[in-house]
Amino acid sequence: MQQILCADMVLSMNTERKLYQPGCVVIEDDRIVEVGPQERLKNQSGHKVDLSGRLLMPGLVNAHTHTPMVLFRGIAEGYSLFSFDGWYNSIRKIEYVADADMTPPAVAVSCAEMIRLGTTTFADQYFYMDQILPVVRRSGMRAVLSYGIVDEKDDQVVDRELANAAAFLEKVQGEPRIKGWMGPHALFEDNRIETIRKELPLAEKYGAGFHIHMLTNSGEDDFCRQNFGKSAAQMMIETGVLKHPVLAAHCVKLQEEDMPALAEAPFTAVICPSAAMRSGAGAAPLKAMHKAGVNTALGTDNVANSNGYDLFREMSTAAKLMSTREGQPGAVSAREIVEMATLGGARGMGLADQIGSLEAGKKADLISLNLNEVGWAPHSGQDVYTALVYSISGMHVCDVMVDGEWLLKDTRWTTLDYPQARRQLEDARIELQRRMDRNDERL
Ligand SMILES: [Zn+2]
Repeated sequence: MQQILCADMVLSMNTERKLYQPGCVVIEDDRIVEVGPQERLKNQSGHKVDLSGRLLMPGLVNAHTHTPMVLFRGIAEGYSLFSFDGWYNSIRKIEYVADADMTPPAVAVSCAEMIRLGTTTFADQYFYMDQILPVVRRSGMRAVLSYGIVDEKDDQVVDRELANAAAFLEKVQGEPRIKGWMGPHALFEDNRIETIRKELPLAEKYGAGFHIHMLTNSGEDDFCRQNFGKSAAQMMIETGVLKHPVLAAHCVKLQEEDMPALAEAPFTAVICPSAAMRSGAGAAPLKAMHKAGVNTALGTDNVANSNGYDLFREMSTAAKLMSTREGQPGAVSAREIVEMATLGGARGMGLADQIGSLEAGKKADLISLNLNEVGWAPHSGQDVYTALVYSISGMHVCDVMVDGEWLLKDTRWTTLDYPQARRQLEDARIELQRRMDRNDERL
C-alpha cells in the first residue's frame, strides 16, 4: 500500500533543487513514487502520514566513521589522531587491550546516535567486521562497511588480513542495505605498494571500492615522491586503485595540481572538519576541490576524534572553517555543504541512483525535522540551506526512514534498544579501563 507523507516543507535535492511548501512524498514499499506540492498529491489513495510542522529532506550520509571507536570517546584528549605518534600513543595502545566482545554495544550506540541525529547511510572502516555487521543489519541503516587493513610490513599479516577481507566480502554479497568494501587504513605508508597490488584483485572480484585515509598531513605525498617520484594521487591512478570508487577521508594537504585528475576519477574527498580542527591538522582545500570538480562528502570520523555524530554540526563547522580558511564569507555556500551531506556522500558510495535526493524511483530514505523547535524563526523569507547549515542541529530530527521503514518515529528508536546498548557500553568501558590500569601497573 502507498504511504503519502505530507509535510510543511519538502526539500527534494532533485536536479532543480525543488522545495515544496507544503509538499508530499508518496512511497510504495521501499521506493519513492512521487514528490510534489501537497495540493496535487494529498488526495492520492493510500495511508496518509500527517507531518505538519515538519520539514522532509533526504537522509544524511556520513561518509567516514569507525563505529566501534565510540568505546574510546573522551580518552584521546590532548592527542592528535592525525599524526602517527599521537594515534599510536593514545588509541593504538588502547586497541591492544580492547577486544571484539566490546564492539557490538559500541556499534549499537553509534548507529542509535546517527539515527537520532538524522543519518540514514554511513561508510564505516574498522576491524571486527564480524561483530559490526549483525548490529548494523539490526539497526536498519544503509551502510558501506570496509574491512580495515594495516599491513604491519609483514607478509603473513597481509595474507591473513586479505583472507579475512575476502571472507567478509563474500558474506555480505546480496545484503539489501549493506555493501562490503576494502578498508586499507592509508595507502603507501601503512599499506605497502605490494599489499595494494594484492588488494586490487579482491576489489575487482567483489565490485568493492576502497575506503582510506589520505593526506591528513603530507606523509603519503612525501613518501611517494621520495620512492616513486610522483604524488600519492598520481600513484593511486598508476596502480589502478582509482579504477574503483575511493572514499578518501580528510585530504587536508591535497595539492591543486592533483585535483583535475581526481575530478575525472570515481574519487571522493571526505571532509571531517571537527576531527581535523581538534587535531590541529588544518582545513582541507574544499573551495579549490569544488572549483576543480572533485566530488566531496562529509564525515564525522571516529568519535574519539570528533566526539559526536551530528552531521548538522559538521555542516556548520565545515562552512565556517572554509570561510576562515579563505578569508571570505560564504566561501563554500550553504547549499554546497548540504549537497555534500546528501548527494556527495551518495555519489561517493556508488549509490547516487538510489539515495541522496527525494525523487521518483529512488529509495525512501528520508528524515523529518521539527520546524516548531527553536532555531527556525522567522520562518518566512529565510533560506532553507542557511537554516540547515547554521541554525539547527541534529536534535531537531523527529523521524527517520530507510527503505520505507521507520527507524525513528517521533524521536523514538524502532529498531535499536538504546538504553540497553548504552548500559552494555558502560560495562565495556569499565572493563577497558580496568585493563588499561593493569597494563600501566605492569609498565
Ligand atoms: Zn578515520
